[in-house]
Amino acid sequence: MTLFSYCLSIMGEVLKKEAYGLAVKDESGVISPFHFSRRETGENDVRFKVLFCGICHTDLSMAINEWGFTSYPLVPGHEIVGVVTEVGAKVTKFNAGDKVGVGYMVSSCGSCETCTDDQENYCPKMILTSGGKYYDDTITYGGYSDHMVCEEDYIIRIPENLPLDATAPLLCAGTTVYSPMKYHGLDKPGMHIGVVGLGGLGHVAVKFAKAMGIKVTVISTSDRKRDEALTRLGADLFLVSRDPEQMKDAMGTMDGIIDTVSATHPVLPILDLLKYKGKLIMVGAPDKPLELPGKKMVVGSMVGGIKETQEMMDLAGKHNITADIELISADYVNTAMERLQKADVRYRFVIDVANTLKPREKDVRFKVLFCGICHSDLHMIKNEWGISTYPLVPGHEIVGVVTEVGSKVTRFKTGDKVGVGCLVGSCGSCDSCTEGLENYCPKSIQTYGFKYYDDTITYGGYSDNMVCDEGFIIRMPDNLPLDAAAPLLCAGITVYSPLKYHGLDKPGMHIGVVGLGGLGHVAVKFAKAMGLKVTVISTSDSKRDEAINRLGADAFVIKDAMRTLDGIINTVSATHSLLPLLGLLKPKGKLVMVGAPEKPLELPVMPLIFERKMVMGSMIGGIKETQEMVDMAGKHNITADIELISADYVNTAMERLEKADVRYRFVIDVANTLKPTP
Ligand SMILES: [Zn+2]
Ligand SMILES: [Zn+2]
Ligand SMILES: [Zn+2]
Ligand SMILES: [Zn+2]
Repeated sequence: MTLFSYCLSIMGEVLKKEAYGLAVKDESGVISPFHFSRRETGENDVRFKVLFCGICHTDLSMAINEWGFTSYPLVPGHEIVGVVTEVGAKVTKFNAGDKVGVGYMVSSCGSCETCTDDQENYCPKMILTSGGKYYDDTITYGGYSDHMVCEEDYIIRIPENLPLDATAPLLCAGTTVYSPMKYHGLDKPGMHIGVVGLGGLGHVAVKFAKAMGIKVTVISTSDRKRDEALTRLGADLFLVSRDPEQMKDAMGTMDGIIDTVSATHPVLPILDLLKYKGKLIMVGAPDKPLELPGKKMVVGSMVGGIKETQEMMDLAGKHNITADIELISADYVNTAMERLQKADVRYRFVIDVANTLKPREKDVRFKVLFCGICHSDLHMIKNEWGISTYPLVPGHEIVGVVTEVGSKVTRFKTGDKVGVGCLVGSCGSCDSCTEGLENYCPKSIQTYGFKYYDDTITYGGYSDNMVCDEGFIIRMPDNLPLDAAAPLLCAGITVYSPLKYHGLDKPGMHIGVVGLGGLGHVAVKFAKAMGLKVTVISTSDSKRDEAINRLGADAFVIKDAMRTLDGIINTVSATHSLLPLLGLLKPKGKLVMVGAPEKPLELPVMPLIFERKMVMGSMIGGIKETQEMVDMAGKHNITADIELISADYVNTAMERLEKADVRYRFVIDVANTLKPTP
C-alpha cells in the first residue's frame, strides 16, 4: 500500500459514520438487515434520525429490478421523516430538533434550466434518494435506515401539527399528485377533476383536490370503493369505469384527470370524460406503452420540485392532510411488500423505523471451518419432509472462528472457536424456552431452510461464514479437533440429551445402543464417558469388532439378551420391529427413539403394560445442554469418527450417505475447499 492510498483509507474511515438499515441484496427482492456507512455531516448537510419511512410502489419495482437499473445492495425508501440531530456549519434553515423529511431526490445540478426553474425533479443530473450515484461515487441509501444525511436544499420542513408517520407518504405520493395539479392549473376552486385509481396516490389526490376547493370524481373499475371514496375521503362523485352508462353520463364534464393506475388500462373512455381542452395527467407508470388516441391533452408528471414539495407540505399542514396509513414494524417489511404487490394495503405502509429497526447487536459472525453432513441434510435436500424451500443451503453441524461480534455481545470475542447446531432462534419466553429447551419451542428457528425473525430464509453451514445470535452459539473446547467435533452439534446432542433427561446417565447402568452409525457411535462414546455399561445392538455381526474394540462397547448382541438393559437409545430410522428391543429392557426400562422412521412403527403394548416399560422420543437438545455436552466431550476427548471431504465431493458424499456407506460422519473441509467460482 502506498502512503497515499493509506492516507486515503484512514481519511475514509474518519469521514464516515456507521449506519444500519434494511437492504435488498439481489433480484429476489428479499429485504434483510444491512450495515453500511454514511458520510460525515458536511458544511451544507443536515443529518437526521429517521422516525418513519413510507413504502412507495417504486420501492417494490426497484427491489426486484423491474426497470433494469437497480444496483444491489439497495436500501429503499424515499418518504422519509425524522428529527434533525446535526447541521453543517453553513446550514441556515434547520436546527437540531427540527422535524424534517426527504423525498425522491437528494441532489441535482443546481444550474440547468429545470433546476433554476425549481423543477429539480426533471434535472438530468438529479440524484435519487435510493439507488442513485452520489458525487463521491457512493450509492445513495434510502430511508429504510436509522439515519439520513442530505444537503439542506433538499430537506423539507414538516409542519408541527401533522403526525409524522402519516405525513411521510406526502413526500412522494403527495407531491406526485400535487405538482401536476398546480402546474397544469387544475387547482382553481370550482373546477371538476377526476382521480383514476384509489390507492396510495389516488387517495391523497382526493384530499388535496378537496382542500383546493375542487369538485372530485373518483373513477374506479369496481363499485367496491364507492363508500370509502365518498364518505371517508370526501369525494363528490364516484364512477365505475366498466359501466358504459355511468361513463356516458359523465362525458365532457371534467377539467382534468389524474390517472394514478400503473397497470395497463384503456385510456380512451377516460379521455371522453374531459371537457374541451381538458388534461389527462398520467402519474402511474404502466410497464407497457398505452394506446393513446390523439385528441385532448395527455401529459406525464413525475414527483415535484423541492420548493413545490415544501408548498405542498405547508398546504397539508394548513388543511390537516395526511395519508391513510398502516404503520408496520421493520420485521414486517417483506410481508408488506408481498401485500403491496397484490395492492392489499389501505393506503400506504409506513415503517415505524425508530421503534422497530434495531441492529442485531447480539449477533456473532464467524468464518466456517468445518461442517458435518447430517442425515437430515439429505432429507431436506430431497424435500422428503415436504418443508424444504429452495435455494437450500444445508448444514447444522457448523464450527469456525469468530470474526466479528455485535456491540452487545458479552460471551464471545474475535478469534474464539465456536459452533452452531440445529437452532438459531426461538421465542425466548414459552415454557420450553424458559426451561432451556429451545429445541421444543413451537417458534424455534432451524439453522437452515426456516424463516428468520426478519422473514429472510436461514442458510446453513455449507457456506463461508455464519451469523447467529450469541444465545445460540456454542463455545468449542480448545483441546478438541474442530473437524471431528463438528458432528457433536447435532449427532452428539441428539444422543446426549435423552441420556441425561431420562436419567440414563448414572454410572453402573446398562444401556443399549441400536444402530452403529453417525448417532450410535457417538452414543457409545458418551455412555462410556458417563461410566455406563454399553451394549451395541445391530442387525448383523459385521460391526462387532468395531463396536467392542474401537468404540469401547462392552457387549454386542444381535438379539437375545432379555431383560438386561436400563435403557436403549434407538438411532435407526429404517422401519424395524420394536418387540425384540422392548424384550431387552429390564422392567421399567426406557426405549428412546432418536431416529425418525418415515412410516409409523408397530408398537407392541403388552410389554409396556406388564413390565411398565416406556417408549419415548427425543429431538436434539437445548442450548445450555448442548454447551454441557460439548464441555463433557472436551473433558473426555470425545469426538466423532469422521471422513473429512472437500466441498467438491459433497454430492458423492450424499449418494454414499444414502447407502449408509460412511464411517461415521462426513465433514466438509469448508474453509480450505469451498471457493467461489471465478
Ligand atoms: Zn415514490
Ligand atoms: Zn439541474
Ligand atoms: Zn442433524
Ligand atoms: Zn419458545
